[in-house]
This record gives sequence, C-alpha cells and structure tokens, in this order.
Amino acid sequence: MSTILGTQFATAVPEMAVAWEAAEVPDPTLLALNEPLARELGLDPAWLCADGLGFLTGNGMPGVAQAYAGHQFGGYSPRLGDGRALLLGEIELGGRLRDLHLKGSGRTPFARGGDGLAAIGPMLREYVVSEAMHALGVPTTRSLAVVATGATVHRETPLPGAVLARVAASHLRVGSFQYARNTGDLDLLRRLADHAIDRHYPGLDHLQFYRAVVHQQTELVAQWMHIGFIHGVMNTDNMTISGETIDYGPCAFMEAYDPATVYSSIDHRGRYRYGNQPGIAQWNLARLAEALLPLFDDDEERAVEKALAVLEEFEARYLAAFQEGMRAKLGGVGDEQLVQDLLKLLHENHVDYTLFFRQLAVGNPRDLVLDLAGIDAWLARWNALGPDRQAMAGVNPVYVPRNHLVEEALTAATAGDLGPFERLLDAVRRPYDEREGLERYAEPAPRDFSASYQTF
Ligand code: AMP
Ligand code: MG
Ligand code: MG
Repeated sequence: MSTILGTQFATAVPEMAVAWEAAEVPDPTLLALNEPLARELGLDPAWLCADGLGFLTGNGMPGVAQAYAGHQFGGYSPRLGDGRALLLGEIELGGRLRDLHLKGSGRTPFARGGDGLAAIGPMLREYVVSEAMHALGVPTTRSLAVVATGATVHRETPLPGAVLARVAASHLRVGSFQYARNTGDLDLLRRLADHAIDRHYPGLDHLQFYRAVVHQQTELVAQWMHIGFIHGVMNTDNMTISGETIDYGPCAFMEAYDPATVYSSIDHRGRYRYGNQPGIAQWNLARLAEALLPLFDDDEERAVEKALAVLEEFEARYLAAFQEGMRAKLGGVGDEQLVQDLLKLLHENHVDYTLFFRQLAVGNPRDLVLDLAGIDAWLARWNALGPDRQAMAGVNPVYVPRNHLVEEALTAATAGDLGPFERLLDAVRRPYDEREGLERYAEPAPRDFSASYQTF
C-alpha cells in the first residue's frame, strides 16, 4: 500500500491551505469503485470495499481545503475555495504525485451559503463521464469511488447524499493564481508558481510555465471539440494548470451538431456553448497571464508584451490541433474546407454528431442527412482522397455518455438500482469497441428528450 504523503501544497503555500476534516459519514455504502485505478495507486480494492470505506470518505484523516478565486460567468469572485471538497493528500503514481481529493465531504470555511454536501446523482455523473473521457484519451481527473453517506441532502427534493473520491494531477487552477495575485503578496504568488512548476513542468521558468499551460489547454479544448464535449461551466476556477478536464457539473455531449448548443440551465446567455469553448479557454488564459504578470518581468509593459506574445500562439495552435484531430476523424484526409463543408451540412441537417462519424467509419452515414445531394457530393470528394477507414473506427467512438442514458442511469441509481449505471459505465469504458446487446447505447435520444434536455 502506498502512503499518503501529506500535502506538499500546504507546505508550499500554507496561506492557501486550511486544515480541515471531512464530515462524519453515518452509514457508508460503496456505490462505485474504480478497481483498476485503485490498483494503479497501490490501494487494495478488497480493503477499500470493507475497512477502507472510512478512507474513501476521509473519516478521521486530516485534510486541506484549498483557497482559490475565480471568474464565474465572467464576474470575479476573490474568494471561492473548496466549499465542499478536501485534499486528503498526494499519492505517488508512476513517479509523479497525484492528489487524492473528496467532493461532498461537508462544509468548510469556504462553504459560504452551501451545505457542503453532494447528492449521489451528480457524483455518479462525474464518475461515469470522467471515465468516458479517460477512455476517449482526453486528459481528465479520475474517479476512484462514490460512497453513499446514508444522509439526506436537500435540493429541490430530498436526495440521498454521497462522497466522490477523485484523483487528479493536481487541483491547481487558473483561479488559484488569481487568488494568490489578489492578496498582493508576490512571494506567495512566486511560491505557488514554483510549486506548480515543480509538480507539472519541472525546469521551466515562469514565462515558459505560462506557455506550457497555454499549450496544454489548447490541446485539451481541441480534444473536447473533436468528441462533442460541452464542459458547461468553464469558469477560471474550473480550469486546471495541469491541462486535465475538471469539474463535471453541467457537462454534456452534443447530440445534433450545432455550435450554439448549451444544456446548462444556469448558462442563460450561452457563454459556455459548444462553439464558444476555444474562445473562453483563451479568455481564461488571459486571466492567468494577468495573475502571473509580475513574475514575467519587473517592468510591467515588458511583462505584458511577453504575456501577449504567448497568448497569441493560442489561435494558430488551436486551429492546427482542431484540424489535425478532424483529419484523424476523417481517416487521415481532408483540408479545412472539407471539414467546414461537412460541419455545415451536419448543422443544417441536425445530424447527430457522434453517430455520423461512427457511421462514416464503419457504415454509411448517408441516411442520417436529409440533404442527399449535399452529402453525396461531400462523400464523393472525401472518398476520392482515399480515407483509412480502419483507423477511423479507433478514433470515432460508438459509445459516449449520451444525455438520456446518463439521466436514465442517475434516476435509477437515486432510486436504488445501480444496474443502468453499471451498464452505461461498461459501454463507455470501451468506446470504440462495438458490442452486441449495447445497440441502444449507440443511438441518439428520442426526440422529445432532446428538445427539453437541461443539465444542472
Ligand atoms: P463549481 O460551480 O462546482 O465549480 O463550484 C463553485 C464554488 O461553489 C466552489 O467554491 C465550490 O466549493 C462551491 N460549492 C458548490 N457547491 C457547494 C455546496 N453544496 N456547499 C458548499 N460549497 C459549494
Ligand atoms: Mg469547481
Ligand atoms: Mg461543480
């Protein structure tokens, strides 16, 4: 068994760490355990299922609530922090440290008006969607376990409570740097940056560190776009320094292709709509630059120039990463025009994004498009380029956590039946491997579902 090493975070920036313990869990029941991940971490699954339940809910373990700030829907909050989460410590995995972190573990000094709790539905959503993302090759925090607490959480209705145990490269966010900068303490800002560099980008100087984060986030958002993932709440406190996807709140997979797609009920203006994600990532990275500015140069004007030069790399790099991934989806062929012409056809014809690319790889997507002349002309252009269809089957997933399937699974789980959750998890963990009996997991939602679907 590996050891919890305490937290290097708390040692590096004690001003941003509040020692805190998880709320006691009256009656823990294990709902989901990620056995392969547990083994990778050197934790014995058999122990976790039994005596280890206390460990998975932080019982009797010292933890740390992390301070951070953040722009939420564009408005700045100088003090957010872990209101219902705790860093339990860092575990070594493959020579690198991984955070072990709890969500739904009770109120902390950052809880403000919140109850510090989580319901089992949202925690199982994070579990299944983050596992799907991992299987799709997208950098993400991982879910280790969901434990029902036996306590009731009051939302619009009373709901069963749960604690999620998750693992991440770290929980350092753009908002962590905003918090440090906002204190006016440059020594704190420098210690935070040096801690992040040690942990994620060893050997780099501060400007190189910023560039590395810009590059990681550029790649990440391009990957989201390739799979039709909509994060839903890209606030600066929900953007990591490591380049992992974090915070699966109102996230969803796009059904019919449309850049304006928003599923989150709290995103009234569509700030975080599918097509806006690259622009928002760049906006968030500008906020990171502002926070880091004093570390780039003593002269403010020169510091701004240096930051802008890095930030300006975003657009070209993003477009290149997006195009490269789309070429892979098309079997290694196609220029920007071919991609844009296809997306226009998909948009105009309300075509299911995931299903179209899967059919393009292994079947015939022609029936999915009402404009037959349009799709035939496009298919002829594409076929003439000699796409590698075999490679496409390993790039275009057949199973993603479709919204109606996630809702079905969470509703059943909340009522005490984990069967649909487990079947969905099994499907999305091998997203390219089409299996008999899982046909309905590959199909779009019924129309009446899609028309009204909202997360959060
Ligand atoms: P999120 O929208 O999940 O990124 O959370 C934004 C902020 O609200 C963070 O500071 C969270 O810790 C806090 N928060 C969210 N839900 C709760 C809750 N139920 N109790 C206390 N704090 C919460
Ligand atoms: Mg968050
Ligand atoms: Mg959240």
